[in-house]
Amino acid sequence: MSKIKKTKIGKCKICKETKELNFEHIPPRSAFNKETKYYTLNQKEYYQNTQEYVFGNLKPKSKKEQGGLGDYCFCKDCNGFLGSKYVRTYKKFAQIAMSIIQSNDKNTKAYGFDISDINLLKFLKQIISMFIGCNNHLFTECYPELLEFVKDENLTELPNRYRFYMYLNNEGQNRNGHIYFTNLYGTVCEFTFRPFGFVLSIDNPNRIMELSEITNFKHYDKIKKVDKLPIILNKYPTYYPIPLDYRTKDELNGSI
Ligand SMILES: [Zn+2]
Repeated sequence: MSKIKKTKIGKCKICKETKELNFEHIPPRSAFNKETKYYTLNQKEYYQNTQEYVFGNLKPKSKKEQGGLGDYCFCKDCNGFLGSKYVRTYKKFAQIAMSIIQSNDKNTKAYGFDISDINLLKFLKQIISMFIGCNNHLFTECYPELLEFVKDENLTELPNRYRFYMYLNNEGQNRNGHIYFTNLYGTVCEFTFRPFGFVLSIDNPNRIMELSEITNFKHYDKIKKVDKLPIILNKYPTYYPIPLDYRTKDELNGSI
């Protein structure tokens, strides 16, 4: 039996009103996040001891938690809005991706499949709502267009400064979606939870070549007119706790 999550009083990250907040599962509970068991690790501590953690020589000292990853970030109304508008689409895509990863040889590095029956606009809005949930209020104060895009289910306009990428993942650690400043790529947020990883890149005119860009999912109304919508996604491990670092266990072993 899953434990009942209580509510907390706080400021909702979608409507910005102070009220009772529900525990929001990020990603949605229905997308393999129902009974997730996890440890919360101090980022610095993990960074300093990555190799020991990856190879199992060091066990996390923090208490193991379960019941799904998430936080108290949205009120009941906003939670319900996201649930009714976007969550089912996300779940559907996650199920397809998970079954594709599991049914193939684990050494396969890239997967191509047809996504023509996924509403990609809704999918993108769900991804953005997860980035909003993962970050503090400053995030949407700095990037208000992201919030407007999520709040209006029909809005297809989003400035080109926001670019989105995705990949498949079933190996390594989750990535928490927090905003991060990299030397190479500028401002990024990366959220990883099996079977997906998502990257939001802000104000970087250069494409991130390793990943499949999905920014044009916002134009789903135009691209859906094509019969088949193929997508190719690479699969990456996420052992190292830095966004956009996809070194394998072997590479990690040799390089640190
Ligand atoms: Zn709200």
